[in-house]
Amino acid sequence: MFTQSDIEFDRQHIWHPYTSMLDPLPCYPVVAAQGYQLQLADGRQLVDGMSSWWAAIHGYNHPRLNQALQQQMSQMSHVMFGGITHPSAVALCRKLVEMTPAALECVFLADSGSVAVEVSMKMALQYWLGRGETRQTFLTLKRGYHGDTSAAMSVCDPDNSMHSLWRGYLPEHLFAAAPACGFDDIWDERDFDDFSRLMEQHHHQLAAVILEPIVQGAGGMRFYHPRYLQRVRECCDRYGVLLIADEIATGFGRTGKLFACEHAGIAPDILCVGKALTGGTLTLAATLTTREVADTISRSPAGCFMHGPTFMGNPLACAVAVESLALLQEGDWQTQVATIEQQLREQLLPLRASPQVAEVRVLGAIGVVETHSPVNMAALQHFFVSQGVWIRPFGRLIYLMPPYIIAPAALKKLVQSIGAALEHPLHFKS
Ligand SMILES: *Cc1c(COP(=O)(O)O)cnc(C)c1O
Repeated sequence: MFTQSDIEFDRQHIWHPYTSMLDPLPCYPVVAAQGYQLQLADGRQLVDGMSSWWAAIHGYNHPRLNQALQQQMSQMSHVMFGGITHPSAVALCRKLVEMTPAALECVFLADSGSVAVEVSMKMALQYWLGRGETRQTFLTLKRGYHGDTSAAMSVCDPDNSMHSLWRGYLPEHLFAAAPACGFDDIWDERDFDDFSRLMEQHHHQLAAVILEPIVQGAGGMRFYHPRYLQRVRECCDRYGVLLIADEIATGFGRTGKLFACEHAGIAPDILCVGKALTGGTLTLAATLTTREVADTISRSPAGCFMHGPTFMGNPLACAVAVESLALLQEGDWQTQVATIEQQLREQLLPLRASPQVAEVRVLGAIGVVETHSPVNMAALQHFFVSQGVWIRPFGRLIYLMPPYIIAPAALKKLVQSIGAALEHPLHFKS
């Protein structure tokens, strides 16, 4: 089914995320996935701790998601969105408008998270053009992550994303110090000083603030204080600057709230969602905004919003997203995420005692072990697979974000594997 020559072909010809073609680390062939388990070509089952990067929240091969896909496929798999609409797009956008903050009424369907971020930034640029101003600078946070396309990359953490490589190519935006106050810490007003100073100095040129609410994901898996986000909202209101919330990772329950902005009781002017939108089945994302922003964009010199991907509103992706959101609306996610959080607090937090560990943090269905030394990726990945778990660490971070339907015994196995991994010095770079 999957031969040595397939593995060899993959090694020699296929790029995986952030890999070298010179000496790529081994890839593990997965041939099936069911619930919270991945099946390797040799028949071994791995407990999935990653939800395929935040996406597969309901687990793999979900009968209702499959049925929604099959039903849509029997009608049509795709049709262009220019001048045409279809039932699954309308049903999906209705649900998105219903589930997100009331002011967010207008939906743009994008193909991936990065595109949703590009779209949000273009919306902000065109909004100012609609108001007769040219504003092209964005204010964001260090340690942020917003995707791999150019505009998205320009607002990612300058060090993690190696802005020095792209000097002169990427536009230069403003970066406030990453929030230092953790989610559960006592709020310290000074944490907001740097952001507030940048806002005061530069608000005339700012098109928008863009940030990940509460959880900074790929830039460091950091959970910051809700008060920080409240201050950002207040500051944007005071200076009349748009706020873009990138909830591509945090959206749809992962942090214990449907959207992470709810921890701070705020609503953005523009919201990006993606990743879990289709329950991990197909690539789809969306950018929502207010009527006022949408109307102002539409009054800009272009007369319309200047974006329209070929596969915009793909019916298969929309249909499966409708079903994924229906599963969320039935409400089981709240107990599932709360149960995962409770178990992670009981079982993962004690790993703080390990000498390898700098910090352990838990929020919703996310558990993060930050180590003192960077991980030896190949060795650690191999170890985890040998333990029957799929955990993909990076840098100094070993983290879990399992499907919401994971069983307590399986979650325990994930945590125990991390505990065991910490005991081997060879799993870390010195
Ligand atoms: C993953 C991610 C993106 C990019 O989404 P892709 O679908 O990978 O393009 C953007 N923002 C955040 C916060 C993300 O976690």
